[in-house]
Amino acid sequence: MPIFEFRCLQCGKLFEKLFLNPNEKVDQIECPACKSTTFERVISRTNYVMGKSGKKPQLTTRSCGPGTSCMTLDIPGPD
Ligand SMILES: [Zn+2]
Repeated sequence: MPIFEFRCLQCGKLFEKLFLNPNEKVDQIECPACKSTTFERVISRTNYVMGKSGKKPQLTTRSCGPGTSCMTLDIPGPD
């Protein structure tokens, strides 16, 4: 069963979300500490989920300012 980790962008709390229902939407998640719905998904070392369709996380580099670059990790969610 897929477990995803999230980090709250409001208070910084790390929390996990177990998707019991594969149709559950990410936007139904809220921070257990501050009820914020702004968060980022974190890669779980123990639950590095390969989607059933074989999708894998994509690491892309993009420019985010003069002389700097940012790494963006796109992790496929449950279909
Ligand atoms: Zn929070």
